[in-house]
Amino acid sequence: MIVLLSGGTGTPKLVQGMRMVVPDSDITVVVNTAEDIWISGGFLSPDIDTLIYLFSGLLDTGTWWGVAGDTFVTHDALLRLGSDEYIAIGDRDRALQIRRGEMLREGLTLTEATEALCSIMGIDARILPMTDSPVATLIRTTGRTIHFQEYWVRHRGQLRIDEVVRQWDGPARATSRVLSSIRESEGVIIGPSNPVTSILPILECGGVRDALREVPVVAVSPFIGDTPVSGPAAALMKARGCSPDSAGTYALYRDFVDFFVQDVRDPVSVPGAIRADTLMKTPLVARDLSVLALSLIREARGRTRSPSEKDR
Ligand code: GDP
Repeated sequence: MIVLLSGGTGTPKLVQGMRMVVPDSDITVVVNTAEDIWISGGFLSPDIDTLIYLFSGLLDTGTWWGVAGDTFVTHDALLRLGSDEYIAIGDRDRALQIRRGEMLREGLTLTEATEALCSIMGIDARILPMTDSPVATLIRTTGRTIHFQEYWVRHRGQLRIDEVVRQWDGPARATSRVLSSIRESEGVIIGPSNPVTSILPILECGGVRDALREVPVVAVSPFIGDTPVSGPAAALMKARGCSPDSAGTYALYRDFVDFFVQDVRDPVSVPGAIRADTLMKTPLVARDLSVLALSLIREARGRTRSPSEKDR
């Protein structure tokens, strides 16, 4: 079984290619939940939703969120009624969020609700929320602190970021299923997701970094030069005091990563990194990148090393 750590765009693109070489039943995706938010009575878990729609064949792969061909009748009606729904939620997408909200109100954990939804939707892969503790990424900007969704969707990322804050309601703990999946895996792939808002929240979950030291880990950079392929990763990296490039990304993962993959076009040099085409403009590029990542996991498995040998 292969485990991928994922946000909602870069790693799902890689998962799309992974599905061409590995059966869904051998894929586990550990997903960031720090962008989750209650909205209009439903529970939006954007990164989990992208994976649910990807595995069920419903995803809009033009935007990498929402259901392809969805309608926005309810969203438009809500706005006419004075709602402040600043995220355009499609009608079918909303149904999933309402159902998930019902399950959470009934007392299911997010892990249980996700498993139930995956089962109903005929998904063979395992989609695991990183934690069942409520958690949010907040942005401190010009004297106020707002949810990441407000920063990115309502304000289109146009605000200055003074600080990125992670707010945990309860212990920052990974679920036992996440930890056992990592430990029992052939290896873990950290896809090219946003380090600050997608991957660091997963790594902050208690037990994850230790588990990653026990298995082969391959990470793919989301940067080419000082520019992310998409999204606000550069501004967020700077706000965290990290260089907004592959070197800064590698520095965040270096204590557990066996192989770091960066794009062939990337002018930033990370010593020892593997070069490949990481720009997944088509599923075939994602497939080739998946084949490479799997071969690197096999290579790392072939090396004899103890977990402590990873602390380099
Ligand atoms: P989010 O939850 O929507 O922010 O999505 P992720 O965190 O999963 O992915 C966002 C990151 O994916 C951005 O930093 C992009 O630079 C990166 N990304 C998107 N597409 C690609 C791609 O084709 N190749 C690489 N290397 N990175 C990508």
